[in-house]
Amino acid sequence: MTMTTKILIGILLGLAVGLILNLYFPKAFEPINEYFFDPIGVLFIKAIKMVVVPLVFFSIVSGAAGIADPKKLGRIGGKTVILYLLTTAIAITFALVIANVVDPGTGTNIGTTTEKPEISKAPSVKDTLLNVIPENPVKAFADAEMLQIIFFALLFGIGMAFLKEKAARVNEFVEQANQIMIKLVQLIMVTAPYAAFALMARAVGKAGVDLIGSMAWYMIAILLALILHMAITYGTLLSVFAKMNPLRFFKSMLPAMEVAFTTSSSAAALPVTMECAERDLKVPKSISSFVLPLGATINMDGTAIMQGVAAVFIAQLWGIPLDLQAQLMIILTATLASIGTAAVPGVGLITLAMVLNSVGLPVEGIAIVMGVDRLLDMSRTVTNITGDACVACVVAKGEEQQEGQAA
Ligand code: ASP
Repeated sequence: MTMTTKILIGILLGLAVGLILNLYFPKAFEPINEYFFDPIGVLFIKAIKMVVVPLVFFSIVSGAAGIADPKKLGRIGGKTVILYLLTTAIAITFALVIANVVDPGTGTNIGTTTEKPEISKAPSVKDTLLNVIPENPVKAFADAEMLQIIFFALLFGIGMAFLKEKAARVNEFVEQANQIMIKLVQLIMVTAPYAAFALMARAVGKAGVDLIGSMAWYMIAILLALILHMAITYGTLLSVFAKMNPLRFFKSMLPAMEVAFTTSSSAAALPVTMECAERDLKVPKSISSFVLPLGATINMDGTAIMQGVAAVFIAQLWGIPLDLQAQLMIILTATLASIGTAAVPGVGLITLAMVLNSVGLPVEGIAIVMGVDRLLDMSRTVTNITGDACVACVVAKGEEQQEGQAA
């Protein structure tokens, strides 16, 4: 049985058990939850929180060390990174608009049940931007200050690239540590079906039918944002800048999309993505071999969409209003969080903690959305890799035109 099936079974069982307890045995729910559902869920959440700091650090250092390779720097690198950031920011904006319109969490108040998370005051955007540079990186690690960690990791990677051979040993260490962290995530994900069961039963048992309704709307909002972003943003970029028929693009990308959907991993889909881009979309190898692996590591529009919708959803569940400043903060942090998300299943859910923290939303909200996350992970990974290939096509066209002018 595949992991996806197992998690699906966990979700459905959790849903059924939670619902039965909520409707027919509300008194029995409390002790079962306290000694069974709750501990399993808490252990899982702690385990994913445990890996977030080292995972983001090593993933970004290895990405940055690759970008800053002086040979690859320059025009292509700059254009690629700007397009990646831009498409991700557009993706979250889509997500926020759709989440505010669909309104998935309003009316279901989860925060007033048994646990009342402590809601810290969110810092202002100015403070956060000034805070990006850590005075003491060790403190940043200890406090899990993600923006500071990302900043330090970027500089660390660039420093490594400048030193080239002199930093070869550190490079190898970082690559291996990155692999180890990804492995740890995979090991933790082995327990995901059980955690999905427990978390789903806990959530549904507590909030009852209302929550299921909200969850469905939550999923619909994300799927809608994923589809609209692919159709509108990528469609426009492809037809205007890459001078390519978007339908041809999506058709050529189908094999890669399938692999992304079944594995929920941009990294696992990367070889197929590269093949589709080179063979069918005629992206030159020199461009695809740089732009696509970089994209698989740092460009995750689908992940950012999930994080945007999840933030709004969780805020609604806990009855916390999100003003414009908070929403701008979400755009900023979800862009950065998606950069720090490793290209393997489920990591977007872990880096969601960073987005929630940045606007003072309860990290416990992850427990609510994780029940349905596997299905969304499959879908958002499709958007993630499609976005990489779209940018590769745009960059390739730009290069072709510049070379044409130069010739
Ligand atoms: N599974 C996603 C990917 O590999 C990352 C995530 O959102 O968890 O692209």
